[in-house]
Amino acid sequence: MKIAIIGTGYVGLVAAVCFADWGHEVVCVGRNGEKIARLREGLAPIFEPGLEAAIVRNLTSGRLSFTLDTAEAVASAEAAFIAVGTPGWENSREANLTSVYAAARQIAEAMTGSLVVVTKSTVPVGTSDAVERIIRDIRPELKSAVVSNPEFLREGAAIGDFLRPDRVVIGTKEAWAEDVLRRIYQPLQQASVPIVVTRRNTAELIKYASNAFLATKIGFINEMADLCEQVGADVTELALGVGLDHRIGKEFLSASPGYGGSCFPKDTDALLHTAHEYGVPMRIVESAVAVNDARKRRMATKIIKAVGGSVDRLTIAVLGLTFKPDTDDMRDAPSVAIIRDLQNAGARISAFDPQGTENAKQCLEGVRFWSDPYDCARDADAVVVMTAWDVVKSLDLDRLRKVMRSPVMVDLHNIYVPEAVQRHGFRLVGVGRPDQLTSITRPNAYSVPEPQFGAVSAKS
Ligand code: NAD
Repeated sequence: MKIAIIGTGYVGLVAAVCFADWGHEVVCVGRNGEKIARLREGLAPIFEPGLEAAIVRNLTSGRLSFTLDTAEAVASAEAAFIAVGTPGWENSREANLTSVYAAARQIAEAMTGSLVVVTKSTVPVGTSDAVERIIRDIRPELKSAVVSNPEFLREGAAIGDFLRPDRVVIGTKEAWAEDVLRRIYQPLQQASVPIVVTRRNTAELIKYASNAFLATKIGFINEMADLCEQVGADVTELALGVGLDHRIGKEFLSASPGYGGSCFPKDTDALLHTAHEYGVPMRIVESAVAVNDARKRRMATKIIKAVGGSVDRLTIAVLGLTFKPDTDDMRDAPSVAIIRDLQNAGARISAFDPQGTENAKQCLEGVRFWSDPYDCARDADAVVVMTAWDVVKSLDLDRLRKVMRSPVMVDLHNIYVPEAVQRHGFRLVGVGRPDQLTSITRPNAYSVPEPQFGAVSAKS
């Protein structure tokens, strides 16, 4: 089947290569000539494991091509996927749907025959109705259907997730459109992946409900981690004991500096906006968002306490910047807020990230970036394990301690085993576990003054 995809970001590109791997003929539409030229040479504009190889493979097979011309992509296609960004508006919780509506107009103007238009982007309930109105206003003479088909892939594991999803959601009540979607996803049907066919607005809401639930789970375990610290319990063991209950599940029960990235923050916001519009209280999601916002400041405070109550003129080495490992995506990464708080409190920041440095430079200022974790930690007064990259998880602790001024490690993911780290001469502060630093200095642990956040300006 010939498929057009509008958008060459994380979702558009991953969908394109996976559809092509399944034997479909895919034409992917971008709007940046330089990026399209590089894609035609097999160069991915983003870091996502396996993506570049899949682009090259499918360019070579002739099943994948890239264009700036929507007409070229949509002509003779049976389906056109909208996979453009839906960020939040500045100073508002509402989703910005400008790109979705622009893509819908592009598609409508390019249509030559009947077409199924698929909203793959995460869009608020009712958006596909609006997309349908755009298509039918512009091309009333052509048969069309708009289907909601939300995407659940995770950056860093996107291709595997797309090829082996937990479910495929198809939002339509039109049988011919459902048939087109079922033919596209035929390999998954054969692999017995559940296909949920539902109303279009339910499909749109499933995506937001899923992300809001996962965000809530993260907020929940982080609050449990805070309680663990106060009562001397261990959140990692707590999460195991809780998560082994199959009604709860082990996933998303790791204490952390909070969620970030291009989806959870904006999607929880957009859901709250929708709920507010319809006058429906959504206190659980509101709390999850508030807990997550507070989490970042709490982590900055934890780091400041770990070095004795003030980071003024101290060097803090931050290992990992992206919101999760195996991506270069810095959108809403917790590292940004935490680093700004530390800078406001007078810290000098050295930072290392295997893939995210270029994007990090766009949202952080006054930071020294390094391409090696040991160079980053040189003369540091503390290292902070911010993102659980493999290279950050397997540090040579002897080497690390030797280059540091002061052997303090703040591990915001509980990667390192306290006893092992202490054997290498470190003082370790983790998240939600009996705090080694606190237990060493317990008499003063609660008399450390609250850190003061100054007013160093930061780029937003
Ligand atoms: P992205 O910002 O990486 O990519 C969007 C792309 O669309 C950009 O390359 C942009 O240039 C392009 N674009 C915008 N308007 C266009 C137009 N009119 N014509 C051609 N190209 C256009 O975004 P993303 O991360 O791929 O996310 C896309 C959507 O999928 C969002 O709604 C997001 O919430 C959702 N989603 C993302 C993920 C994820 O992990 N990134 C997972 C599931 C769902």
